[in-house]
Amino acid sequence: MSAQEAREPLVYINGELYPKSEAKVSVFDHGLLYGDGVFEGIRVYNGIIFKLREHIDRLYRSAKVLRLNIPMDPEKMVEEVVRTVRANGFRDAYIRLVVTRGVGDLGLDPRKCGRPNVIIIVEHLEPILGSGMREKGITVIFSSTRRDPVHATSHEVKSLNYLNSILAKIEAIEAGADDAIMLDSRGFVAEATGANVFIVKNGTLITPPVTTGILPGITRAVVIEIAGKLGIPVQERDITPVEFMTADEAFVTGTGAELVPIGFVGKVPIGDGRPGPVFRRILEEFNRYKTDPRNGVPAF
Ligand code: PMP
Repeated sequence: MSAQEAREPLVYINGELYPKSEAKVSVFDHGLLYGDGVFEGIRVYNGIIFKLREHIDRLYRSAKVLRLNIPMDPEKMVEEVVRTVRANGFRDAYIRLVVTRGVGDLGLDPRKCGRPNVIIIVEHLEPILGSGMREKGITVIFSSTRRDPVHATSHEVKSLNYLNSILAKIEAIEAGADDAIMLDSRGFVAEATGANVFIVKNGTLITPPVTTGILPGITRAVVIEIAGKLGIPVQERDITPVEFMTADEAFVTGTGAELVPIGFVGKVPIGDGRPGPVFRRILEEFNRYKTDPRNGVPAF
């Protein structure tokens, strides 16, 4: 183990770096009391912080909807993320950037809160659904919990409020599946609990539109860009559960999950139940794309 790995990771809180065991915020923070805050999950590949500016843009858009004034401008936030990654010395890592409403009283009125807390955690993280799943494929269920609608706590905003996804994840776990596909309030496919979803039908890549209440994923946008480069047609449109189950291929995309094929919906195989040729082509290109220095901000 190197000296770098032997010591505790450093966590950024409001401009200071603390060892992980000492990184703490108040129990009166409304991020804890009410899930009032926003966040981003970001990966570092070979010292390049992948799509950092896109993540920071999305963070500020989420904060705008919550009327949460992040106490620094986006360019300063880019610098603080770079500084925290550099201080930790990890060339391959996962960053969790969190901005909470800050410390308030026990009522939910955000005007009672002081300064928002800015937290940056950098750690090693294996692909969230398991590294072997890229070859094997995951099993999903259709969750009975619907995606929060766009006129409510829409997941277009990446807020600290993830109960909608957590309920679906629990349902998947109890059913012995790896993850859940959530439908929107109309019954069309929306997304997985913490990842976007794509299907392949007759060579065309299809993904649900943001109007289903999904997070506009950065990996989703990268996959659409890669498909364009590879000459694979892409459609953003509603997908019915039947269309999903009878697709030739299906896969999920996300920063934590990366690209993972879906083998089964319950006991029903998607295609032949194994990763398909379109997925493989896109994954191969994604693996090149993610380490290209032009696609991120260098940390070192
Ligand atoms: N949807 C949800 C609900 C998520 O939490 C995530 C992970 N951040 C995604 C989609 C994928 O988004 P991204 O590719 O930007 O990580």
